[in-house]
Amino acid sequence: MIYLDYSATTPVSYDVLDSYIKATKDYMGNANSIHSLGVKSKILLNSATKQLCELFNISEEELIYTSGATESNNMALKGVALSYKDKGKHIVVSKLEHPSIYKICDFLESEGYEISYVNNDINGLVDFEDLKNKIRQDTILVSICAVNSEVGVRQPLKTIRQIIKKENPNTLFHSDMTQAIGKVQVNMHDVDMASMSAHKIFGPKGIGFLFKKSTVKMIPLIHGSGKFNELRAGTPPLPLIVALSKACRIALTDVESREMKVKELNEMICKDLEKYDGIILNKTKYSIPHILNISFTKIKPETFIHAMEDDEVYLSTNTACASGELSTSVMAIYNDKRRAISTIRISLSYVTTTEEVKKFLNLFKEKYNALNNLMNGGEA
Ligand code: PMP
Repeated sequence: MIYLDYSATTPVSYDVLDSYIKATKDYMGNANSIHSLGVKSKILLNSATKQLCELFNISEEELIYTSGATESNNMALKGVALSYKDKGKHIVVSKLEHPSIYKICDFLESEGYEISYVNNDINGLVDFEDLKNKIRQDTILVSICAVNSEVGVRQPLKTIRQIIKKENPNTLFHSDMTQAIGKVQVNMHDVDMASMSAHKIFGPKGIGFLFKKSTVKMIPLIHGSGKFNELRAGTPPLPLIVALSKACRIALTDVESREMKVKELNEMICKDLEKYDGIILNKTKYSIPHILNISFTKIKPETFIHAMEDDEVYLSTNTACASGELSTSVMAIYNDKRRAISTIRISLSYVTTTEEVKKFLNLFKEKYNALNNLMNGGEA
């Protein structure tokens, strides 16, 4: 198998799975219980949380465990919208967000909030002037992802933060960092809130966190019992938390050298695919190497993906959460519907090997030419 869909999800690493199993087997107590089994679990919970906070240079009160990035995004946007509604009902987002952000925005709009969509340039970079102009006295929140999930555009969060705070120091800045963490360096202190998900970094599905500065007020979305976290009630899923902490520790090791390795693989693929008639690379100078998006002008992306799958090569159309739909990111960058409806995302990881890429490119050639010939009347 050649797996090139690491931005959709990753397999759980053995080390992470080991931690998960150990925590499941040896720590059955509820960390909220006062007896010794509970206390034992609480000690492990505290140590996993401490490690996580040290990795991201944040404090323990600033971390809220969630079921993943969709929940973190919901918590950030709805939680802030509800808490600050007396200060304003205006929210700004980019045109390169994950579908979960747009769904939340649609909901908030139906509840009387006003959403503005900030423009980007031809490289996918947020238009700073437009951002500045869109921030008003009643703008309570700006949400801009650190790395876009479809074209991989990386935004300069520090600069964006400066622009936001200069226009309105009370406007909060949230960033969906799901596609950035473990791939490129991130700094939580560039933002007021950040979302992430373990399953993108070789951790299990169903766990992630929201980083939230302690000065940010928030109304919880999940009410219930449990002293664990007043913003997210319920029994802490200890094995998942331990696994998340371990996955982050591994993911934040050697980020830069791993990124250089992925860059070489990306360049190898681009050099090859550039030669094809009927393929356009949707790559800008701000795209991270882990995410490579291309458009087909002659064949259907779904047909190609299934043809590759026959030989156990796994790719996706745009983002896994909007498979088969028009790529909103390609549309936002290139403003070309034909290009946006025919995309394929090849996503790489530091575990991808040169050998895998070579095999992928050979199969790509075989399948692409066969489908192309079929479209041209069936000559081989
Ligand atoms: N945000 C981004 C940028 C993503 O890529 C994803 C996963 N496709 C999500 C949010 C949703 O993450 P989860 O599956 O953890 O809910």
